[in-house]
Amino acid sequence: MPISQSQLSQLFDYLDSALETGCDHSLKLTRQFLQTNALPEAKIIPWLGSYGGHCDCEVLANVEEAWQQ
Ligand SMILES: [Zn+2]
Repeated sequence: MPISQSQLSQLFDYLDSALETGCDHSLKLTRQFLQTNALPEAKIIPWLGSYGGHCDCEVLANVEEAWQQ
């Protein structure tokens, strides 16, 4: 797992409030969060994709769901 559980839940919180304006079907907000927190995008983006997170709203919907189980 390329991101810690606490950073992952911070990412979900961040997306949760940032997506109030809607998802533009990119990983723009996710990448912004990773950059702000100096996390390795090159590892985390494909990892999120393997859980069905191909854009910001999918990260929130699919990856968060996968982790709650
Ligand atoms: Zn989306």
